[in-house]
Amino acid sequence: MKHSKKDSPTTPTMKGFSPGFASLGLEAALLTTLETLGYEEPTPIQQEAIPPLLDGRDLLGRAATGTGKTAAFTLPLLQRLAHSTRQAHPSVLILVPTRELAMQVCEAVERYGKENRVATLAVYGGAAIRPQLLALKRGVDVIVATPGRALDHIRRKSLQLQELQMVVLDEADEMLNMGFAEDLDAILQQTPKTRQTALFSATMPSRIASIARRHLQDPVEIQIAKEPVKSGVAPLVRQTAYLVARQHKVAALARILDMTTPKSTLVFCRTRLEVDELTSMLNSRGYRGEGLHGGMNQAQRDRVMQSFRSGQTELLVATDVAARGLDISHVSHVMNYDVPTSPEAYVHRIGRTGRAGRGGEAVSLVEPRERWLLKNIEHLTKSTIEMATLPTVADLQAKRLERIAVSIQEILKANNFDRFRNVVDKLTEKFNPADVAAAAIQLASGAKDGAPKEQEIPTIQDRTQERASTSRRPRREPPGWAQGPKTGGSSSRPVGRRERPGRSGQSASMATLHFSAGKNASIRPGDFVGAIANEAGINSNVIGPIKISDDFSLVKVPEELAQNIMKVLGRTRIKGKKVKVRLYQE
Ligand code: AMP
Repeated sequence: MKHSKKDSPTTPTMKGFSPGFASLGLEAALLTTLETLGYEEPTPIQQEAIPPLLDGRDLLGRAATGTGKTAAFTLPLLQRLAHSTRQAHPSVLILVPTRELAMQVCEAVERYGKENRVATLAVYGGAAIRPQLLALKRGVDVIVATPGRALDHIRRKSLQLQELQMVVLDEADEMLNMGFAEDLDAILQQTPKTRQTALFSATMPSRIASIARRHLQDPVEIQIAKEPVKSGVAPLVRQTAYLVARQHKVAALARILDMTTPKSTLVFCRTRLEVDELTSMLNSRGYRGEGLHGGMNQAQRDRVMQSFRSGQTELLVATDVAARGLDISHVSHVMNYDVPTSPEAYVHRIGRTGRAGRGGEAVSLVEPRERWLLKNIEHLTKSTIEMATLPTVADLQAKRLERIAVSIQEILKANNFDRFRNVVDKLTEKFNPADVAAAAIQLASGAKDGAPKEQEIPTIQDRTQERASTSRRPRREPPGWAQGPKTGGSSSRPVGRRERPGRSGQSASMATLHFSAGKNASIRPGDFVGAIANEAGINSNVIGPIKISDDFSLVKVPEELAQNIMKVLGRTRIKGKKVKVRLYQE
């Protein structure tokens, strides 16, 4: 397609397709889906990974969650499936470390494959096996599985791998941390040699390199942003981030806006849909916000820009693409509703504030699973992003009262309130004047009644900080105990993935479980972590120290979860063996 000079990146293209995605070789059905999802351009990992995967190459990608890697491998596999005849057995196997990720990836495949009608199934431990068996019998094109449960199905012959065209190992470092190395080898050995393989990992320890050597053929290697990014961040921009769960992000953004009352704020989202949804949510909360994205025509965009420039619109909610051409000098705050998919995009976004020697603020909302991505941005931009705690309801109320006090002082200075005096006189005949003033302030503070009732937003412990401090503490466990993932210094699992039980910062009291197998059965700590996390569906971060002796193993787990873990693990196999489990009294 010929681009005229007028074709700014924000100009919708013919048929509305993103030229970026189309130029990667994706076909119309997928482009339509991406258009519906409001994706404006490929993320860096998608740009690098999609063409070689469409060419049938194996791929070794270093990329964390939040970079858009799920679409990077899903879009090519869907295109491949669209060109092949339906098989009796699965064509694609995606291996992931946890049940949460299995569900999430499965949903993503369904979302991206809406036009292609692929049959997708997530199988993971801890869920009943019968429905999985039935679904497999009915026929599945893409299966997303945790390694333990995948092996279980392979042994039962309910999962047949001979027709696989593609295998994806997602978050491979996590799978190794959870003790799945041998399971992965066992699974991969049973797949056809002709398959295409893609391996994604946030980190590349030598164990990953070794898996890649054994199972990938002449892979294309991609690593997004390995070089430091040219700063471009104005020194006067203060960078802050808040850890917040996805479901609390709107409330968190509103809370931050309430506290800072920024004059001219640019809020960045990833997709057009998010821009539209967030704009309407912010407006319903009383903000004057407008959306800006590539799906709007020039006249609409001009109107929104004019309104933002004149200060009539205080919040401009935009996608990266739409904001690219913006030249506004007075942006006081940049808010990243999502962590941008690359350090470059981050630098570009926050470079919108702090212009012309003015100070500026850049605020990012970070989901726990994106914490790693932010660390990477910090590292590559050589800047410090301060992790802050979300304001509480009490903070917000205090701030509101502070503002009322300032307004009252201004009214007092203006001395133009005579028409209210007789009301005050009447009231002070009966009441103490200070009480009357306090009651008036209470009334003023409740002036926003009808607005949604404020609730506390749960705080999430930043496990990167926690780990830094625990690693300096001397080991408290007796010799012979391996640390579980909770304090495991050697574990490189992305941090802050899930919350710990109990109130933040408090450790739950622990019970010790005795398992009837140990070193002689080649059991390793990771086997317990994998089994407990996936079979019992328990957050692996809560698992305590693990001690493996020759014939038995001891694993510390939170007391309140012990019974459930025993019940579930009593029924399953660890390393393919039935293992007895009981409570152990020290
Ligand atoms: P992932 O790294 O695959 O977990 O993706 C992180 C988030 O980015 C998901 O919510 C995706 O929907 C979103 N996403 C992926 N690719 C794009 C894109 N090209 N444009 C906008 N959002 C995207």
